Amino acid sequence: MTKSELDRFRAILTAKVAELERFTRHREGITIDRSADQLEEIQAASERALAVCNLDREFNQLRNARAALRRIQEGNFGTCQQCDEEIHPKRLAAVPWATFCIRCQEAVDNNLDLEEIQAPSHDLLRRAA
Ligand SMILES: [Zn+2]
Repeated sequence: MTKSELDRFRAILTAKVAELERFTRHREGITIDRSADQLEEIQAASERALAVCNLDREFNQLRNARAALRRIQEGNFGTCQQCDEEIHPKRLAAVPWATFCIRCQEAVDNNLDLEEIQAPSHDLLRRAA
């Protein structure tokens, strides 16, 4: 990767980190409002759950973007952290904070999916029966 390419990714990632920091700071004030109205309280609880879920995703992205900036500094940006192959430039253009090449990412995603889908679906089946 050329220096100008690296500079471009650094600029993209720096902007991304700034944007995510703004988001997550904004959301730090998720508070629990006690409401007399039960329906309102249920609604507030589901909104809170959604906000926490979004926040979780944003924190993850923030961590990944910061890690990518660190990799630029350390000189191993664009290298898969799993197999040491180069991450495809098209993939980096779409996901500048990508940690893995597409093959390793798919393996990781598949493993996660299996764990995430299998556990709750058993629960659902039991509840439905
Ligand atoms: Zn890989």
